[in-house]
Amino acid sequence: MARSKSDISNSAIRIFLQNVGKFYDEERGFEPFGPKIAQKDELLDYFENQCCFCGEIINRKSLSQDHLIPMNKSTLGLHAWGNVVPCCQPCNNEKQQKPWRGFLEVKAGVNFQSRERKILDFVLSKNYDPSLNLHEFADNLYEDVGQVAMTLINLRYKQAQDGIKKLLK
Ligand SMILES: [Zn+2]
Repeated sequence: MARSKSDISNSAIRIFLQNVGKFYDEERGFEPFGPKIAQKDELLDYFENQCCFCGEIINRKSLSQDHLIPMNKSTLGLHAWGNVVPCCQPCNNEKQQKPWRGFLEVKAGVNFQSRERKILDFVLSKNYDPSLNLHEFADNLYEDVGQVAMTLINLRYKQAQDGIKKLLK
């Protein structure tokens, strides 16, 4: 439930990143990333049924999917192949919007380098470009959606005021 202008804009950014991710998948020749069983299995296979951060054994049921680059206004990660990695539920809950390398350092300990290598190889194997720059589009969308939403809210608010005044006469 949106509570403010920024909530509405942030929801729009998320939808935008999902749609761009689908397009980016198709352009790279992949079936768009969805919650499909075969896709989960591919993630599990690649990471040898381990949480990519802490190494905990995971399966189809306990698998949680993390966006390596978070899907938000400042980092603009996509819901797409190469940005979704398998992890355990506790790691997913804990990582949230944190940068993945720092989080991995804490979780992997002595295995940091090998797990970092594994993640980077995965990103590369999917040809995902972490520096893909969508800031101009996303920033404009954020502003536009916020303004349009506030204009519409104010319009309907005035109508509601008129309606209530009439009722109370
Ligand atoms: Zn974990």
